[in-house]
Amino acid sequence: MSVKLSPTEQQRLNTAFETCSPQEILAWAAQTFAPRLALTSSFQSQSLPLLHMISQIAPQTPIFFLDTGLHFWETLLFREELQRTLGLNVQDLRADASWQPFLSRFGRTLPQEDPDLCCFIRKVQPVQRALQGMDAWVSGIRRDQTENRKNAQFLESEPGGLLKINPLLRWTRPEVQAYMDEHHLPVHPLLQKGYRSIGCRPCTRAIRPGEDERAGRWDGKSKTECGLHTETFKQSGPNAATMLKSFILTPKEDSSHE
Ligand code: SF4
Repeated sequence: MSVKLSPTEQQRLNTAFETCSPQEILAWAAQTFAPRLALTSSFQSQSLPLLHMISQIAPQTPIFFLDTGLHFWETLLFREELQRTLGLNVQDLRADASWQPFLSRFGRTLPQEDPDLCCFIRKVQPVQRALQGMDAWVSGIRRDQTENRKNAQFLESEPGGLLKINPLLRWTRPEVQAYMDEHHLPVHPLLQKGYRSIGCRPCTRAIRPGEDERAGRWDGKSKTECGLHTETFKQSGPNAATMLKSFILTPKEDSSHE
């Protein structure tokens, strides 16, 4: 049976959660919403505390991983290892099949040419679809990560009635590290190579000393978010068939993409 919070209850809980631990918030979420509860994870080192907590509190919770086809192999191996050692219920999400003709022709250069469209096809739309039928979505975002996330709340309503739950919101990077040390959690293999925030290979570089942890994401572009945490359910994109048609203008222009 579907569970919906009233605006008053949501506001009350948002205030109460400012003094709760992430584990307490997760336990509340599992008790209130399972089995209509899911989590998304990019399987970076900083995702570990949330994955570890969910493995202990509600291990059956589906964990959606966005398999964009453009991840570092280190990320894919790390995801495999965590799924096995923590006993996680990981489910891969991929771009809708209707996009395959478009992606097979233009997918390789799309991250540079139109990263917003690329993220929409490979991340936002698959999440929108996977979360249909869920009541609540757990995310690992923190307020200290980006300007956009500074004003986030523990509980946020998405269009369509889905509730987004951010248990780690109040934590800082040192607190994440302390949890990882305490529980002897593994680290992403690229961390030692200077990668602090890790997304797809074409849009991620190692950071230099003194740089912000997300400085290596979409370097040289104004983009700072993939769109998963910025009004995810208000976003709509083009139709795959129309898009394919609009990209194929003339045989001459089309040859630049080969
Ligand atoms: S992060 Fe880059 S490669 Fe990955 S979906 Fe977004 S634009 Fe595409």
